[in-house]
Amino acid sequence: MSVIYQRVAFIGLGLIASSMAHAIRRSGLAVTTTGTARSADTRKVAREIGLVDQVFDTAAETVKGADLVVLCVPMGAMGTVAEEIAPHLEPGATLTDVGSVKQAVIDAVTPFLPQGVHFIPGHPLAGTEHSGPRAGFAELFDNRWCILTPPDGCDSQALARLSRFWRGMGANLDVMDAPHHDLVLAVTSHTPHLIAYTMVGVADDLRRVTDSEVIKYSAAGFRDFTRIAASDPTMWRDVFLTNKDATLEILGRFTEELFALQRAIRQGDGDLLHAYFTRTRAIRRGIIEAGQDTDAPDFGRAKSKG
Ligand code: NAP
Repeated sequence: MSVIYQRVAFIGLGLIASSMAHAIRRSGLAVTTTGTARSADTRKVAREIGLVDQVFDTAAETVKGADLVVLCVPMGAMGTVAEEIAPHLEPGATLTDVGSVKQAVIDAVTPFLPQGVHFIPGHPLAGTEHSGPRAGFAELFDNRWCILTPPDGCDSQALARLSRFWRGMGANLDVMDAPHHDLVLAVTSHTPHLIAYTMVGVADDLRRVTDSEVIKYSAAGFRDFTRIAASDPTMWRDVFLTNKDATLEILGRFTEELFALQRAIRQGDGDLLHAYFTRTRAIRRGIIEAGQDTDAPDFGRAKSKG
């Protein structure tokens, strides 16, 4: 793999930025990498482990001379960070992000965008329930999808270059508009997280099920179903605040389905339940066939950290 960018700058040095930094090194995609984070602690860790070539204390120094700047902060911080770095961005540079919601990032960043900077929002559909600069690993994006949501009139060369960069980090690439992305993700990620959080809340509320019983018997389904409920609370608060409409739409549909199954259980309608589970099993198996999960008992997660 050959060099795609001279200097890649990360604002935020958590799970996604650190995984990108490792993946860039693995494939030699950049000559230099720089980064900064909000807290001195995170910057210290990043320096200790040599996460990027240079860690700076300010976002301004970090983006200076960069031909690619990647915003890797929680959704709620995108606008503030964009405002801070905007005067220091190089003309001709590409500015991208990895936020889980796309229209909200566009709304937050666009007002600060200087002339001559190519803004191409992005979202790698890969993650774990771990956070911080030590959580990253080079394989995180391998065979995962990355969705770019370029605005109308986006520079085609800048888009092609960023696409090559993500492919170089192991990802498959898709391009769509931001509202469509937000609806798709409400189905595939945001609502499932909300339901997992709820299920953990339900188990906690049930006084009959003691903590030890929940943990002891968790392999019966609770463990796999709620794995994602250990995800970062700041990130997920921001996802629901910024993808409100699409999430509420999907939650409404989910609730209707749940009521239909609840009624089938109450009425002893085994045919309906069987037909429903047959259909959903086929869909779930399709995910394994599409290479987006494994059928190993632990879903392959012990190895991949995913
Ligand atoms: P993370 O591990 O929690 O790291 C977040 C980084 O952002 C940290 O370096 C943090 O600095 C910095 N930060 C937090 N608040 C900030 C603020 N107000 N101003 C400046 N910097 C700030 O998060 P992550 O999992 O890498 O997520 C980063 C982005 O990727 C989010 O937008 C998320 O939606 C998106 N994403 C996440 C996943 C996932 O599964 N985790 C998957 C795809 C996309 P400190 O450490 O100093 O606090």
